[in-house]
Amino acid sequence: MIRACALAAALFVAAGSLQTPEQFVGHRVAADNTLVRWDKIVEYMKLAAANSDRVRYRELGKTSSGNPFIALEISSPDTLKNLDHFKQLERKLYFQGGAPTDAERDAIFREGKLVLLITCSIHATEIGASQMSLELVHRLATEDSPAVKKILDNVIFVLVPSLNPDGQILVTDWFNRNNGTPYQNSPIPYLYHPYVGHDNNRDMYMFTQKESQYTAQLIWHDWFPTVWLDEHQMGSNAARIFVMPATDPINPNVHPLIYRWNGILGQSQAAALEAAGKEGIIYNSTYTNFWEGAMAWSGWFHNEIGLLTEVASANVAAPIDQNRARPGQPPPPAQGRSEGGRGQNFAGGPLPAPTDITPRTEYPRPWMGGHWTLRDIVDYELIATMALLETAADRRETINRQIYEVNRQTIDAAKTADVKAIVVPIEKQHDPREAAHLVDRLHVGGVDVYRADTAFDVDGTHYAAGTFVIPMNQVFARYAKDMVEKQTYPEVRRGPNAPPEPPYDVTAWSLGMLLGVDVVLSKEAVPASAKLTRIDTLPAMPGSVSGSGSRFAFDDKGPDTAIAINRLLKDGARVSFDAPSHVVVSNASKSSLESLAKEFGLQVTASADSRTPPPAMRTIKAPRVAMYQPWTGGNMDEGWTRWVLEQYGFNLTSIHNEDVRKGDLRKRFDAIILADQDPRAIVNGFDAPQIRPEYRGGIGDAGVDSLKAFLAQGGTLITMGNACDLAIERLPIPVRDLKRGLTRDQHFAPGTILRLEVDTQHPLGYGVAADTYGFYINSPFFQLVEGFNSQHTAVVARYPNTDVVASGWLKGEELMAGRAAVVAIDMNPGRVVLFGLRPQHRAQTHATFPMLFNALYQSTIAGPASGATAPSTQP
Ligand SMILES: [Zn+2]
Repeated sequence: MIRACALAAALFVAAGSLQTPEQFVGHRVAADNTLVRWDKIVEYMKLAAANSDRVRYRELGKTSSGNPFIALEISSPDTLKNLDHFKQLERKLYFQGGAPTDAERDAIFREGKLVLLITCSIHATEIGASQMSLELVHRLATEDSPAVKKILDNVIFVLVPSLNPDGQILVTDWFNRNNGTPYQNSPIPYLYHPYVGHDNNRDMYMFTQKESQYTAQLIWHDWFPTVWLDEHQMGSNAARIFVMPATDPINPNVHPLIYRWNGILGQSQAAALEAAGKEGIIYNSTYTNFWEGAMAWSGWFHNEIGLLTEVASANVAAPIDQNRARPGQPPPPAQGRSEGGRGQNFAGGPLPAPTDITPRTEYPRPWMGGHWTLRDIVDYELIATMALLETAADRRETINRQIYEVNRQTIDAAKTADVKAIVVPIEKQHDPREAAHLVDRLHVGGVDVYRADTAFDVDGTHYAAGTFVIPMNQVFARYAKDMVEKQTYPEVRRGPNAPPEPPYDVTAWSLGMLLGVDVVLSKEAVPASAKLTRIDTLPAMPGSVSGSGSRFAFDDKGPDTAIAINRLLKDGARVSFDAPSHVVVSNASKSSLESLAKEFGLQVTASADSRTPPPAMRTIKAPRVAMYQPWTGGNMDEGWTRWVLEQYGFNLTSIHNEDVRKGDLRKRFDAIILADQDPRAIVNGFDAPQIRPEYRGGIGDAGVDSLKAFLAQGGTLITMGNACDLAIERLPIPVRDLKRGLTRDQHFAPGTILRLEVDTQHPLGYGVAADTYGFYINSPFFQLVEGFNSQHTAVVARYPNTDVVASGWLKGEELMAGRAAVVAIDMNPGRVVLFGLRPQHRAQTHATFPMLFNALYQSTIAGPASGATAPSTQP
């Protein structure tokens, strides 16, 4: 309320004359050790919109933590008055609602604007761009220079001042808390997003997070910008700014024009920075042109010119110093601090001098070291941003004409392409609900998805009515194809005898494999007789309750069943498995089963409850789950796991080092999850004088003892990825991690989809397809060794004996053939589950989610996870 009054007063006083950001916040933007917090940025943007007829303010929704996620639309007053008209022209440029007529096309070229999106500071410690946006908006709102006039006349500029407002607040508050204390350099101990931390820039095809969803809505359903710049920061000790183009390999699904304009527009930014006398501008380095999932990169597959800038980081808002390089002399021995990553340096003292000091085409004026501040970051970003806006204004008609050609060619190419449609059948899918999720994700990504009202044949195969169809004669066909086909990563070698360069990020995202859905790339177009209906919401699968009686049964297939099971458990139902992947429910109402059947497409059979109920060993309860959350900068795998479990209706409690050390865990929990993390980091954590005392250290040996006691009292310890090594090292379990000790030359997988064989008779394999796919990223794979007779060790999932790799790049495939991916060890008492692969990787791997869910359910059953088939040793 107070804020609203203050704002109203400010509007009255300042109407028509927008305050400068400096007047508004009381200090120069980006002055040393100052940050403008998100709420203040939002307030200023509202003020700008209220005081300028060049600026419009929009709230697109609330973030994960309930903060406003906003966008500004900035252009000339005349354009803003007719914004819907220009939006329609832009949508026609992207063939929305069909191809433009010749007259419409000519109108787009003649009067259409260049729609340009800039998104800022998705990685919250890379905070400069969110600060820069204040001065940028003030300048565009108030300046009457020829450059600004040209920009406003030709460009509709859509600005997202932060893609991660929650993180902006977390980082600002953390910085202010420590500023001027001995903990000035204390790294932020938790993720800078409520769930996913740095991985928020890996979500632009699954769209799990609200921020990704708002962005997808803005760019592929609303504005369709032709140019999109995402502003980041990088490490502190080399180049000052990276501009486009990025480096090899390229992706063959991207139209070559996109890569050309990456070069032209990126170089226009570099030229402006050179003209301003700035040092250390580099292109063609580090960031590869191949992968899906990052913000601006995802634009390429949508015929949008996606661009990246990465500016060298200060220590968030604190300045840093770097020793100067001495050309021709060997660098002095490294001393002082080491570099702690983007936007944060953990130790004191100057950084070692830069070593990349050879001038060359991509880097004609190398950075030689010196003083570097948040203000420097903002200055570089202001120059680079204004340069992009100005070049875009200069090239408005050319870019629109060429993007029109790219869109037209993309649609025309379907006539002669090898793939004419993507067909997603409903019949014969392991879990038809996942087919619906797959097309729903593509729809969020802007793809036109249809459902066939009648049966049809293509490529000699018959498909039933209800089959999903994605014709390739659509503007985002490149994206749809890239998302569902098998990825082949083109190896890059810098010399004939050089080893292949490791990919920058994951090399596989084949959506059908991740979700466990069979997808057909058809050579023939779907016949017109199939009568296609466009779908705009998540398609429902038919579900119902048949029969009568108070005992209900349904098949446990795929992850969505867990939501139904968790709701039933919450309502006090008795839920059991009477056979592998078969659920029996009693003590529940028919109406609740009917609504679950409808929502999740379950075929439920009701019968009289006269049969003997399944024994207690097959009856599950709502699991009490503890999720270990370390302080070492947070753990993204932990955040993703937490997010997945919340989405599927599990109750979980986050526990920290002191909770583990304190012990007595079995009273509170059935299962404890350790997400992917180096065991040494789990045990030791971070310990240094500059770290705040409450965040120092790990679980320690006392914590390991607590976990042993938890097992001895019948608890289930679930370890994922590298955390498996903690169990292997500290517990007498008969498992060896074969990944350990292998060099990068012998075995390396930066993110690959592998074939997986699952024991669906084992309770941890319930609901999973026997032959499916798992996501693997440099984590353990296992061999069984000698174990105790009192233990029962089961391989729940294994890699096949041949053809392990299904999609993407992996070095050393033969080492994984026939090896174990998921192992469950009944310790008698207690149970250890080792997930070598990532069962819930970035919330994308629906095909393997059920193994994690099953491990939680089975933790509520006393005795071995022997389920319906394995012999029980229990009395
Ligand atoms: Zn970044």
